[in-house]
Amino acid sequence: MIYLDNAATSFHKPAEVPQAMLRAMGRCANPGRGGYPAAMEAAETVFTCREMAGKFFHCSPEQVVFTSNCTHGLNMAIFTLVKPGGKVLISGFEHNAVTRPLHALNAQLLVAGRRLFDWEDTLTQFEEGLKKGAEVAVFTHVSNVFGYILPVEQMAALCRQYRVPFVVDAAQSAGTQDIDFAALGADFMAMPGHKGLLGPQGTGILLCGRMPKPLLYGGTGSQSMLQQMPDFLPDGGEAGTVNVPGIAGLWAGMRYVNRVGLPQIRQREQRQLSRCVVGLKKLGYRVFDGPHQAAVVSFVPSVDCQDLADRFSGQGIAVRAGLHCAPLAHESAGTLETGTVRVSFGHDCSDRQTAFFLQKAEVLR
Ligand code: PMP
Repeated sequence: MIYLDNAATSFHKPAEVPQAMLRAMGRCANPGRGGYPAAMEAAETVFTCREMAGKFFHCSPEQVVFTSNCTHGLNMAIFTLVKPGGKVLISGFEHNAVTRPLHALNAQLLVAGRRLFDWEDTLTQFEEGLKKGAEVAVFTHVSNVFGYILPVEQMAALCRQYRVPFVVDAAQSAGTQDIDFAALGADFMAMPGHKGLLGPQGTGILLCGRMPKPLLYGGTGSQSMLQQMPDFLPDGGEAGTVNVPGIAGLWAGMRYVNRVGLPQIRQREQRQLSRCVVGLKKLGYRVFDGPHQAAVVSFVPSVDCQDLADRFSGQGIAVRAGLHCAPLAHESAGTLETGTVRVSFGHDCSDRQTAFFLQKAEVLR
């Protein structure tokens, strides 16, 4: 199968990822819950991954809280910062993982920046939202539908200037874009372990610039006499046994990304993005492309999007059609009615795969 759905999850994980998971299952007991060798090895495995994530994103290991996916981290962050009915500034390209928790909190939403690939619009509208009294800002780094890379450094600077706490959704950027958590000064940044970081599903990270309110309460292996959750990181955000095999796999995935190098991965993906955009345009598809675009591209065919995706699937090509859990992004781009077909490249993409995809795109159009 030619897998072009990396925005959903990375599928072809490096071989060392399942190997690390198997090894952990054979050797690790419960981390932080005992002093015997198997418990110590589990603790060491978890700490090593925490330490690597800290280096990767420029923060201390304690600020790295393991979650079960990006949604989990976003919920922790949002429920920590947003009061019921509070005024929250978001971008026009948010995923349901952001908008649904905000809806559950009955938040008043200020939606800033609806124009794709337009930093000036995003920043102007964003500052307007801050001036209108937003209490919290939550925004994605990269749109999962269109690959639009938002000007997060500048948005972060505006939040700091207006003293508004903020959360960054790094679901589509962790493992492909440079991220400096310390320099951003974010209150929280949530990411999955299973996309660009090449770990397994069921893993995620919440980087914490402040203490999160727990979503779950329970054992942490620390301060067992107390009935409150520990008030320090990372324990306060990690009730219950963490996903040790998953974290071992995530560590292996991050090690692989480090070894290959972020710029090299990005360059490889960008090459395929350009070839794909040019090829699809030549075939007459309506393609959404622009500056500041990560290796995710949406297009609209003249036939039904889901039908086309099914036909690609019949030819051994995995792409995703529909609204991609991000109706707001589609509303911003004017594709809420039709949806789009999305192609998203990963670390192992190649000229040959893109050429095969374009060949089928010609036949199936
Ligand atoms: N935010 C964005 C922008 C995403 O693309 C996704 C995954 N599609 C999420 C949040 C949620 O990630 P997860 O599935 O790991 O919870």
